[in-house]
Amino acid sequence: MSDYDIVIVGGGPAGSTTAEYAALSGASVLVLDRRKTIGEPVQCGEFIPDSSEMKVTFPLVPDVDELFHVPDELILRRMDTFRMIAPSGRYWDVKFSGYTTDRAQFDKHLSTKAEKAGAEVRTSTRVIGIDSTDVITENDRISAKVIVGADGPLSTVASSLGFPRNVDMYPAVTCQAEGDFPPIMEMHFGDIAPGAYAWVLPKDKGANVGVGFSPKLSDGKLGEYLDTFKRNRGLNVTTRMAGKFVPSNGPITKTVLDNALLVGDSAGHVMAVNGGGVPIAMMCGRIAGRIAASHALNGTPLKDYEMEWRRQLAKPLQTAVNTKRLATLFMNTSRRTEWAMKFVGARRMGKMIRLRPVFP
Ligand SMILES: Cc1cc2nc3c(=O)[nH]c(=O)nc-3n(C[C@H](O)[C@H](O)[C@H](O)COP(=O)(O)OP(=O)(O)OC[C@H]3O[C@@H](n4cnc5c(N)ncnc54)[C@H](O)[C@@H]3O)c2cc1C
Repeated sequence: MSDYDIVIVGGGPAGSTTAEYAALSGASVLVLDRRKTIGEPVQCGEFIPDSSEMKVTFPLVPDVDELFHVPDELILRRMDTFRMIAPSGRYWDVKFSGYTTDRAQFDKHLSTKAEKAGAEVRTSTRVIGIDSTDVITENDRISAKVIVGADGPLSTVASSLGFPRNVDMYPAVTCQAEGDFPPIMEMHFGDIAPGAYAWVLPKDKGANVGVGFSPKLSDGKLGEYLDTFKRNRGLNVTTRMAGKFVPSNGPITKTVLDNALLVGDSAGHVMAVNGGGVPIAMMCGRIAGRIAASHALNGTPLKDYEMEWRRQLAKPLQTAVNTKRLATLFMNTSRRTEWAMKFVGARRMGKMIRLRPVFP
């Protein structure tokens, strides 16, 4: 007999949402996370799109409001304008509604919801491998009917079980800046962040600032890019930088193998055009939790998970990958970036951000 119906490796947005919905469906659930405290340190721009935007971007995802109902205290600043800034300083404003949050508190909130639904959460527990139906930690072996890899872009579950790996990942780093910032979300393009962008995302006090880049278009160091951005933008940074890789090539080709599935960054569930992954992790986590529970309790096929998340989300996610590939062709120098941004203009930038084809 298994110790649990479902063991989930990783207590980020993907793992906690999977856990909540699996527990609500009646399964016994254990979440394991190597971190001492869920959500810390923050490695995120902390921006979440409004539900209204997610309904437009992912029209086949049902009950969006239910999934993204967050307490008011987790909404630090509402904004409705992305400012896309070219290397020359020229910019285009794109209307898009969303808010900044405190990602550490956001992740804790999701984890608490999972616990309230009945899931058990164990922190300071690193998973070192998977052996068939057993999850191996540094000092334990736990069996499960379903194993979920929600352990981020460099997933141990994925590598242990032979899932396809995320390729072409972008390093990105973030920190907090103090000061007064207008309610505008800045994205800076060009040599400041080759192949990606640098950002300023205002919060209630100060702003989350950071930078990501394509390793193919640069041989520089992340810290140096951040320093240049801080200097050029005149940012007064008050925290240490923290970062990790962002999957930027869209979902991997297979997210279910035997008794295991992947969700969130481990599955490449990220919007390739902007690196945003929290909403996708939660949307796919809800599907994963329900279907994993149904498999463990009633024997329905686990492969339904792959079919269902692809039905709901694959088309816009693939459009984002195509747009990203096209954009990358023009983002290898500041001069070409400037030209491309002028050519694309605000209306098409709005389509890009909403994962719509830019050219009909
Ligand atoms: C600098 C930066 C800025 C970003 N900004 C945004 C943004 O503004 N908005 C947005 O939507 N997305 C943003 N993203 C992407 C977003 O952070 C991810 O897509 C999101 O965190 C994915 O959630 P997840 O649950 O799949 O993975 P994670 O949040 O990475 O959670 C994985 C969890 O697994 C745990 N874990 C890993 N390995 C093991 C192991 N072996 N054993 C036990 N536990 C393990 C980790 O401790 C972690 O808690 C950003 C990413 C970066 C790097």
